[in-house]
Amino acid sequence: MSDSIHIAVVGSGYVGLVAAVCFAEMGHSVVCVDNDQQKVSALQDGESLIHEKHLPELLQRYRNARVRFTTDLSAATREAQAIFIAVGTPQSETGDADLSYVEAVASEIARSITTYKVIAEKSTVPVYTNEWIRRVMERNGVSREMFDVVSNPEFLREGTAVSDFLHPDRIVVGTDSDRAADIMSRIYEPLTTGRYYAKAGAIDGACNHDTPPPLLRTSTKSAEIIKHASNAFLALKISFINAVSNLCEAADADVEQVAQGMGLDSRIGPRFLRPGIGYGGSCFPKDVAAFRSVAEQLGVNFALLTEVENINADQKRRFLNKVRSALWTLRGKKLGVLGLAFKGGTDDIRDSPAIELVRMLIEEGCSIRAFDPAAMPRAEQILPPSPEIQYASDPYDASNDVDALLILTDWAEFARLDLQRLSAAMRFPIILDGRNLYDPELMLENEITYFSVGRPTRH
Ligand code: NAD
Repeated sequence: MSDSIHIAVVGSGYVGLVAAVCFAEMGHSVVCVDNDQQKVSALQDGESLIHEKHLPELLQRYRNARVRFTTDLSAATREAQAIFIAVGTPQSETGDADLSYVEAVASEIARSITTYKVIAEKSTVPVYTNEWIRRVMERNGVSREMFDVVSNPEFLREGTAVSDFLHPDRIVVGTDSDRAADIMSRIYEPLTTGRYYAKAGAIDGACNHDTPPPLLRTSTKSAEIIKHASNAFLALKISFINAVSNLCEAADADVEQVAQGMGLDSRIGPRFLRPGIGYGGSCFPKDVAAFRSVAEQLGVNFALLTEVENINADQKRRFLNKVRSALWTLRGKKLGVLGLAFKGGTDDIRDSPAIELVRMLIEEGCSIRAFDPAAMPRAEQILPPSPEIQYASDPYDASNDVDALLILTDWAEFARLDLQRLSAAMRFPIILDGRNLYDPELMLENEITYFSVGRPTRH
């Protein structure tokens, strides 16, 4: 039986907020800190701010009880046994991670420490960050016995963040301190013993495992590298299948069949072998760039990562060319767009390939009629309604009188549209599917000219 640990989570974004409510769900007492007063007030009122399944119900259940929200990091530090840093680590102009938010939090923690704390890096950070945090603490006069820095990378995916957090494939704890490792084990004990999964009303995982997740203890530096290497590897898998899809197009073969044949090999596996318009989001692009930059700084040749990025950038240009070859010229064309989020299930548009393509198409003189089930409010902030872009009320409205319809995000609901209704709404029945959501045969039966990625086009 585990005890409840007092936890502070700093940052209330996709990772911090999810971690905070999930730690509460695991029985801990949590204070979630953000320096954005508006966000904190909204969270105190029970507004979940991001689109994630299960988040509203957990927030409702625990807010102002087992999870409190505040801007006061000093008070939160004093109360907590473990402090999880979950602030942003965006890409800087040079490609490496901008760690200024992490540094600011570390300095503030240093000024408030009165008893021993575990300081856990939840944010994705480059190797050696733990040593910098330690240095910041020591420079601020905190003695070495008063804290340990642990790397505890987060592997959740937006869209299934809550269930991923509670059903991880593994929990990585990088630390050289047994004292810190013991506190981290106690925090994750409800998951590693399976106790949480036996609880009535436990939240299901997107992929359920037969056995509880292992807690892998490593050195701090290894844990930091595990996160960057994992994301870089997943990005590599996507770029690899995208390069294969280009080859399939040239050879008139079908990449879906190729991916299926490859994925049945248990050494390869079927996941992340989905061709499309390239990876995006707030993690893969910046993490690949940061990992490349780490390699450069350490004098290691990792040119493979540059190629992963090149293929990814090229994939968007190739799709733009596909639209051009379907429509001949682009200037003055009216296009329906389904999907603005970087992937289905989220409202996050950071580094979204869909948004980038929309911008490229507008640049080419097209006008856009876009629909996304969750991301439109965020999209409207960066692309306000104008003669170039209008927002639609549903996929059929987005198709109204357009020269072609583009599918740019893999929302599940875009895979089961009424094709006859779509076709009737469009000026010409042409669909360009950047996510391969449909069987080309079905499109043929519905007399729709259908272009997808890495598959022969028949019309
Ligand atoms: P986010 O931008 O959604 O949230 C970061 C939050 O930190 C914001 O609410 C911001 O106001 C707050 N913040 C910034 N400086 C602060 C300070 N000094 N004090 C208190 N709060 C502060 O970011 P995110 O998507 O949650 O990502 C956080 C980290 O987790 C990043 O390093 C990211 O790479 C990593 N990560 C993200 C995901 C994901 O899917 N989003 C998955 C795994 C890991």
